[in-house]
Amino acid sequence: MSEPIHSTPRQPVRMCATCEVITDQPVLIRSIEQGSGPGWSLYACADCAPTYLTTAEAFQLLMDHVGVCRICMETDQPTEACTTARTLIRVHRSCYRNDAQGPVSPKA
Ligand SMILES: [Zn+2]
Ligand SMILES: [Zn+2]
Repeated sequence: MSEPIHSTPRQPVRMCATCEVITDQPVLIRSIEQGSGPGWSLYACADCAPTYLTTAEAFQLLMDHVGVCRICMETDQPTEACTTARTLIRVHRSCYRNDAQGPVSPKA
């Protein structure tokens, strides 16, 4: 028997700007815009992204994703179905935790 040929879609892999690990779940941490021509984007892995982002920015990334992602739109459980959403939620949670360790005390 011959094996069927799979055409696996390639994950958009990026290198983390901090630890230089190649990740298939890159988180956009910064868009650099140039006056002329296209700018470029800086990505980080899920572990490093919280050091770049505020809680609000991480939440915005999650919302931006959910707004354009078919998988997330079609499910009530994006954390189960969509790995990107899962990554962004994890990043958001880490940011939130970083905030909580600061002078702002968590809700009593
Ligand atoms: Zn990293
Ligand atoms: Zn999604």
